[in-house]
Amino acid sequence: MSKRRISIFGATGSIGQSTIDLIKRDFDAYDVVAVSGGQNIAQLAKDAIALRADVAVTADESKLAALRAALAGSGVDVAAGQAALIEAAARPVDWTMSAIVGAAGLEPGLEALKHGGTLALANKESLVTAGKLLMSTAKAHGARVLPVDSEHSAVFQALVGEDMSTVERVIITASGGAFRDWPLETLKDATVASASTHPNWNMGQRITIDSASMFNKALELIETREFFDVAPEKIETIMHPQSLVHALVGYNDGAIMAHVGPHDMRHAIGYALHWPERQHLPVERLDLAKISQLEFREVDLARYPAIGLAHEVMQRGGLSGAVFIAAKDAALDAFIDGRIGFVQMAELVADVLDALLPDSGLIDATMSLDNLRQTTQIGAEHAQSWIDRV
Ligand code: NAD
Ligand code: MG
Repeated sequence: MSKRRISIFGATGSIGQSTIDLIKRDFDAYDVVAVSGGQNIAQLAKDAIALRADVAVTADESKLAALRAALAGSGVDVAAGQAALIEAAARPVDWTMSAIVGAAGLEPGLEALKHGGTLALANKESLVTAGKLLMSTAKAHGARVLPVDSEHSAVFQALVGEDMSTVERVIITASGGAFRDWPLETLKDATVASASTHPNWNMGQRITIDSASMFNKALELIETREFFDVAPEKIETIMHPQSLVHALVGYNDGAIMAHVGPHDMRHAIGYALHWPERQHLPVERLDLAKISQLEFREVDLARYPAIGLAHEVMQRGGLSGAVFIAAKDAALDAFIDGRIGFVQMAELVADVLDALLPDSGLIDATMSLDNLRQTTQIGAEHAQSWIDRV
């Protein structure tokens, strides 16, 4: 059997490293074309050599010399900067992991879709800002997008063999983050340190704070809408403190198919890597008797206003996802910098949406990269002036 050609964007991050772990376990099956990273040149060089990649790209142009030195004599080509990332994504492969964090993941992902093949999408931000553009690009080039976010992989698995017209609801679970049991009135005093610890797992600071505020879940609801093209009113969120049921799909005969699995992103990554088959994966086998209880409770929208905002964005559509992410990122930066409080993050995003979304130009505009860039900038500027006012 010929080897599968693969590229990994965001290889040095958490998802990238889990992907590499799986690839290395069955290395003879793969031919690695491109790997990309950012600041962590030592890691990028080490992985590029171990995976015998054709090219290693750092997003940071100032790190080109360091990458070149680290890979001297290895036979791995080196490149740096955004244009180089896109050029690397244009190299034909069968499977691409999109695991860059943030808006920077959009263009390499779009480029990868242009050679057909499969895009395993961890970069949720690109679906939230430009879902229609990604999906139409995939369609135009006969490419496939597979979900890597655990909830979306769970929905995807619960949908196997089913007809979308029989789906009544898609239920995304949420752990509730650091403040799920805090009295509501104390949330306004939440500090950056207390928001940065997750009850169930260790992740980067930004996504951990986004879990405490449920802005991460808000992005995932919009991601669900874009990925599966389900109507916003069919998308629900439920609190599930154990985070073992990743998502559920409810059908028109009353059945609910739930996906239960360990807290290990290698499950969702592996499913996207081997799809449509299942292959053995090195993840924990859950001991249900030991777990003994799975709890579910309603999401309190007063505690988690981000969920209501996500529904507003889904209803509006168009470029509203780009406004949402721009405002949310500005709010998160300002909270981390101590400029605004925890509950003010959602107030800021709500005010920016209120100010910008009634302008139907943002909803009706064509979803081009230029329009997205401009919209993101307008959203960020509005957010900044809000922060400067308070
Ligand atoms: P991370 O911060 O650990 O890694 C991010 C990667 O992107 C690194 O390789 C970094 O070098 C690269 N990068 C950062 N800024 C860049 C830029 N401007 N241009 C190019 N590359 C850049 O992030 P992660 O946790 O691996 O998450 C990656 C994506 O997957 C995110 O969109 C995240 O929301 C999503 N995701 C992560 C998890 C998780 O458990 N970590 C779960 C679901 C979805
Ligand atoms: Mg998730």
